[in-house]
Amino acid sequence: MPPAGGAGSVTSSIRMRSTSDSTRDAPACYRLEGRVAFITGGGAGLGEGTARRLAEEGAKVVVVDIDAEAAEVVAASLPDAIAMAVDVTDPDAVEAAFAQTMDHYGSVDIIFNNAGIAGEQQPLHEYDLDNWRGVNSLNADGVFYVLKFGIQAMLESGGGSIINTASTAALTAQQNISAYSFSKAGVMGITRSAAIEYAKQGIRVNAIAPTAVLTPMVEAFIESSDDPEAFRAERENWNPIPGWPYAEDIAAVVAFLASDDAKWITGHTLPIDGGYVVR
Ligand code: NAD
Repeated sequence: MPPAGGAGSVTSSIRMRSTSDSTRDAPACYRLEGRVAFITGGGAGLGEGTARRLAEEGAKVVVVDIDAEAAEVVAASLPDAIAMAVDVTDPDAVEAAFAQTMDHYGSVDIIFNNAGIAGEQQPLHEYDLDNWRGVNSLNADGVFYVLKFGIQAMLESGGGSIINTASTAALTAQQNISAYSFSKAGVMGITRSAAIEYAKQGIRVNAIAPTAVLTPMVEAFIESSDDPEAFRAERENWNPIPGWPYAEDIAAVVAFLASDDAKWITGHTLPIDGGYVVR
């Protein structure tokens, strides 16, 4: 439970949205007190939702985003957070961001390696090379840079928990998003290998595989489809559990994997999909 009058007082005042009950109170969990969480893509969507949830559970948050203003807005709304304008496709910038985090907070205990893009939807044989390279430079190379420099900081910190963002597109076939499927399957692979490389040093590495969540990325993806209205209607019943999950629903799972409640879980990719992959 949070100490009276501390950042925990924020927890009780925040109401969470849910697919089943839009007025549900935030759960009274306070598992991450004093831990430092480094979140990429923290300015919007799943990263923003997770920044808020981890802060509610007591974490200090480093909000990393290519969009400086978005990162500033999110960080300014949290009890103890800093914003960093970083393009995670730039390895020098990622290395500098972890160095700055160590200078400012003295440790890196949680990494949500989350920034990613979907790219343009194109049939594989017509797939534009810039589209392919653009998606992979963020979803594959950027994820690798965050792991490489983040693990260095985490080893200095004495261990921690890393959560990479994969997708149901890594677990099932989806058409016209070749680079996305390819890169997210790679996220699953590097999650497994990093988990066993660093298990003895106290670093757990897992991934999440969300189904579609209505974030700015998904809004843009729908708008770029041939028939956005039909796409939207079809997606309402895409998963066995009807409707859409919210960013808060994904954030709750990330908070669990970040916490000691998940201390025996490493190397796995956890679907958050309303039953989509087992249907
Ligand atoms: P979003 O577009 O809503 O937010 C992504 C954030 O990342 C933005 O703030 C953006 O500015 C930032 N960003 C983009 N490029 C960056 C870069 N080069 N460096 C640093 N920051 C950068 O996206 P989202 O829907 O929240 O998706 C987040 C992650 O979740 C992605 O990896 C995505 O593939 C994955 N995902 C999303 C869904 C979904 O339905 N939204 C489903 C499965 C997986």
